[in-house]
Amino acid sequence: MWTCPKCKRVFNNKNQSHYCIKPTTIDEYILQQDPIYQEKLFQLRDLLKEALPEAEERISWSMPTYWKGTNLIHFACSKTHLGLYPGEEAVEHFQKELENYSTSKGTIRLSWKEDLPTKLIIKIAKWCSKHNPIYFIDIKKRMIENFICRLFNLSINNCL
Ligand SMILES: [Zn+2]
Repeated sequence: MWTCPKCKRVFNNKNQSHYCIKPTTIDEYILQQDPIYQEKLFQLRDLLKEALPEAEERISWSMPTYWKGTNLIHFACSKTHLGLYPGEEAVEHFQKELENYSTSKGTIRLSWKEDLPTKLIIKIAKWCSKHNPIYFIDIKKRMIENFICRLFNLSINNCL
């Protein structure tokens, strides 16, 4: 075990290369990675942004995260692979389409050597958004609000 004298983080390997400042945005996260990985990381980020336009970008569990009331999907850079974390159910749901990829519970490991499966990534991200439990709560809330509006004869424009 080794403790970095600057940031006090503890690592298994002595002099483990890392960044002492914790990233607070996805941009910062990507720019802190080895430049050889950055192009693909930015490409993945653009894909997720396209698939999840309403989601908020944040860092959660030390990973770039797309959030809408709850964490929808994360990704992370590692030397051996680009990790995509859509959750266990999503990985199960897309099992067949993912058969040529290395997966485990909630994790998809994308190779740095191959092109990103752009269509599949967008599909998975959209699936995560639709299966977001918060999304259903949102719809229910809106239905109740609309009902109350109609009850009091308010214009629908004032309601939404
Ligand atoms: Zn440090």
